[in-house]
Amino acid sequence: MLLFGHIGITVGAALAAQRIYTHFHTQSSPHTETAGNSVEVTRDVSASDSSVRELFDLRIWLIGSILPDIIDKPLAVFTGDGRLLAHSLIFSGSLFAGGLFLAFFRKRLWLFALSLASMIHLVLDSMWKSPQDLFWPFYGFSFTLHHDGGWFTSIVHEFLENPAVYIPEIVGMLIILGYLGLVIMKKYGNTTDQYRHIQQVLRTSKRIL
Ligand SMILES: [Zn+2]
Repeated sequence: MLLFGHIGITVGAALAAQRIYTHFHTQSSPHTETAGNSVEVTRDVSASDSSVRELFDLRIWLIGSILPDIIDKPLAVFTGDGRLLAHSLIFSGSLFAGGLFLAFFRKRLWLFALSLASMIHLVLDSMWKSPQDLFWPFYGFSFTLHHDGGWFTSIVHEFLENPAVYIPEIVGMLIILGYLGLVIMKKYGNTTDQYRHIQQVLRTSKRIL
């Protein structure tokens, strides 16, 4: 999978998990009855709970979603393949172990989130099809060469002709565009509310004068 597939699907999964968490946490929150507004309660909970904010920080998920590629792809210039150590279970497993350590002993969840995003990357890359790379170094110290005719040329060729490559890219792009659209609409909606509020204040002022 390429850039937009990784980012869109992983960040989309994080957003869905955040929604589910917020839904159940808001329902079980003792503040729900007093506040009477789930949106305000959600804001209060997220503001007061920094570790939860770290867990659902989309910037962490975005970086984690392409972290193995950020590390391995530049090395493809020398090795001829972009799936190396950072695409192995030992890499994501180390991040996961570090994430658990920080979560239990420091109440920090950013590394845990990063490790989950990195593991999703391995799943989306179907790394189980390359056990020599996934379980490196248990099958030997060398990595599989996935592309015979040059890494970059093969990627472009697959993107243009292989539905298993370009369909996830389109889905990922749609998720990203949908999310950005919602963010812009939310901002635009707030601007409209502010505009209406100013108009109301002006009308009231005229009446008084
Ligand atoms: Zn990859």
